[in-house]
Amino acid sequence: MAANYKFELVGVLGFPVAENPTCVMQEAAFAALNLPWRYLTIEVRPASLPDAIRGVRALGMKGVNLTIPHKVAVLPLLDEISPDAAMIGAVNTVWREGDRLIGENTDGKGFLRGMREESGIDPAGKNICVLGAGGAARAITVELALAGAGRITIWNRSGERGEALCRDLKQRTKADAHFEPWRRTYSVSPEVDILVNATSIGLFPEIEAMPDVDLKNARPDLIVCDVVPNPPETRFIKTARALGLKTLTGLPMLVYQGAIGFEMWTGRKAPEAAMKRALEEAFR
Ligand code: NDP
Repeated sequence: MAANYKFELVGVLGFPVAENPTCVMQEAAFAALNLPWRYLTIEVRPASLPDAIRGVRALGMKGVNLTIPHKVAVLPLLDEISPDAAMIGAVNTVWREGDRLIGENTDGKGFLRGMREESGIDPAGKNICVLGAGGAARAITVELALAGAGRITIWNRSGERGEALCRDLKQRTKADAHFEPWRRTYSVSPEVDILVNATSIGLFPEIEAMPDVDLKNARPDLIVCDVVPNPPETRFIKTARALGLKTLTGLPMLVYQGAIGFEMWTGRKAPEAAMKRALEEAFR
């Protein structure tokens, strides 16, 4: 058989990017399926993003992930944006179809897949509260709305950001969306079915921090979710579990958003268990 020393390339573009753990799970996936692919972690300064995307095209890369601060800036540099990514207003995954680069957003889809596969929950018709109105909250609320969620309430510290997300959700997805300014302890009412921390509160190294939320009036079958993947169990998740509530950590979301990207790039079913194991080891 003729030798083949060529690698297919994918990667992540960000600034800063050195602590982004995605390479760990994607490389584990390539190894598990014995694919000659490489995932590169590439530092790209904001002003260099147009050149970097030209580089993606010139090198024939199969796709890339975008992280801070490129998720919005990349939009005009692509040939097509998926309808969901356009509704969210940000792209975290680019894939190639021939010479065309297509932008997608897998964060909210990863969250939903995690919710369905790890907790067996369907968000359709549910009353959902989301803490935060940043990029993760945007992706999650759009996908929840498209999945038929009932009422969606966004609690956010900055009124401007929270109101903008609420307005976009109503206009773009017809969601029953509401905004509440988050200025003091938020007491979770018994009407809420699912509570999601989509802020960065509790993210490593601030592992003692947790959202200012009172769970004493919550219904006993409330599902408490966190998007923070590192540490894999935040103080918020541990507190909710200690109260006997059902929980979903940020790790499944990270694994499944990566799995969806892997499947878009390679056309193969992602080895999710190997990807999860690799991340758990990296965060240990
Ligand atoms: P952004 O910077 O876009 O948004 C951060 C959000 O957190 C804002 O709503 C901000 O409120 C809020 N926030 C931050 N600190 C505080 C605080 N002390 N008190 C109240 N609110 C606060 O970040 P992202 O949305 O991109 O990321 C958020 C989290 O999601 C991160 O921890 C990230 O790791 C995680 N994430 C996880 C993924 C996964 O796959 N598991 C994927 C993507 C992100 P305000 O608007 O008032 O500033």
